[in-house]
Amino acid sequence: MQDSNTIGGKDVAVHLHSYTNLAALPSTPPLVIVKGDGIHVVDDEGKRYVEGMSGLWCASLGFSNKRLADAGTQALNTLPYYHTFNQRTNPAVVELAERLLKLAPVPMSRVFFANSGSEANDSAVKMVWYYHNAIGKPEKKKIIARKRAYHGVTVAAASLGGLDANHRDFDLPLARFLHVDTPHHYYGAKPGETEDAFSTRLAEGLEQTILAEGPETVAAFIAEPVMGAGGVLVPPAGYFEKVQAVLAKYDILFIADEVICGFGRTGNMFGSTTFGMRPDILTCAKALSSGYVPISAVMVNAKVYDAIAANSGKIGTFGHGYTYSGHPVASAVALETLKVYEDEDILGNVAKVAPVFQAAARAFANRPMVGEVRGVGLIGAIELVADKAAHKPFAPEQKVGYRLAALALEEGVIVRAMGDAIGLCPPLIISAEQVTDMFARLARAFDKLEAEMLA
Ligand code: PLP
Repeated sequence: MQDSNTIGGKDVAVHLHSYTNLAALPSTPPLVIVKGDGIHVVDDEGKRYVEGMSGLWCASLGFSNKRLADAGTQALNTLPYYHTFNQRTNPAVVELAERLLKLAPVPMSRVFFANSGSEANDSAVKMVWYYHNAIGKPEKKKIIARKRAYHGVTVAAASLGGLDANHRDFDLPLARFLHVDTPHHYYGAKPGETEDAFSTRLAEGLEQTILAEGPETVAAFIAEPVMGAGGVLVPPAGYFEKVQAVLAKYDILFIADEVICGFGRTGNMFGSTTFGMRPDILTCAKALSSGYVPISAVMVNAKVYDAIAANSGKIGTFGHGYTYSGHPVASAVALETLKVYEDEDILGNVAKVAPVFQAAARAFANRPMVGEVRGVGLIGAIELVADKAAHKPFAPEQKVGYRLAALALEEGVIVRAMGDAIGLCPPLIISAEQVTDMFARLARAFDKLEAEMLA
């Protein structure tokens, strides 16, 4: 049982945790993180951890960036709050929108602001629906996403997602949300099927779904460049090129969810550039502020914006927005984050360190329980399997991935178990030496796991 005098003990009594087995809480005390510096966080007993996941894929500038703290403090002391409804604005949000439009991977026309990735994706869905109403195609409303996708947890975002935990027990997905096959070559390909042939088959599957539903009813397709929570699934060769050809054929909008991939994670400013994606709508969050304040953005291209704007009077005001859309403090911190990316050449660091990271990760492929290592830039995953030759996974109830993550924690490195895929997504400021140290810790955790399971 918890000691009710500790922070962890008090927490259990009052805090309804997200993504937690609430029934197991009394026997599993929460990890209390009290501070952070650089790529490390420190718990309430003074133990330091390498944050190999940047928290939840977001603290790209680490945990002690003074420029971001100062930008937030200054904003709090100048204009702590104002809204952007009905033609109100503030200097920070304007400059932030200007910068985002300059950074966009394809020409974009306007930026809408929200507070989280989920809200950004919900907003994108509503914009798609509004757009099709505006251009006189109200029957075009279905959204196609992918199995294993993660787009957030609000009702529409969870419906876009393709993970069972986000649907089960919530009566989701909503009607009009469909899911096509996951682009995971390791588990999805037929024996001997090349990545390119696999991509062709997936694009054909998408086209069949569109035809079966009726193209006149399909509004948009949404995809993360690299599927994050689904297990860091890097798209197979040719995938997005083939998918986009299908979308263009049936006049279907393309939404890129850059909530994880945005701002340098895959080696370019946006994952869309890395994978040749040309979205009409792009959502981003997380590294937009390095996770320091809640903020997200939805960029829309001229095709979408002009139609919405031209028809707004006709079909009714664009009735969507949040109390905190364009919040001046969040905007100031996000703006400073984008300036730091440029001033400190964060993409240059990714270019330098990513080869070290990817090589160190791939060295784990020789381990007896590792089926696949995948990744790009500074994101990757190591997939644990029961049988390497047969690509056979462990039974979920064995919880092998969770065991490895727990052993890694003992070794002072925080990784994420997504089933049996061990995710890594360290702050983009990580050095080559720190990458080597992070993987050395993980290797010790693997040694312990192998000793437990293969002895
Ligand atoms: N989209 C992707 C790709 C994500 O990884 C996440 C969160 O992890 C979200 C959307 C949802 O973001 P949030 O948790 O800020 O609502």
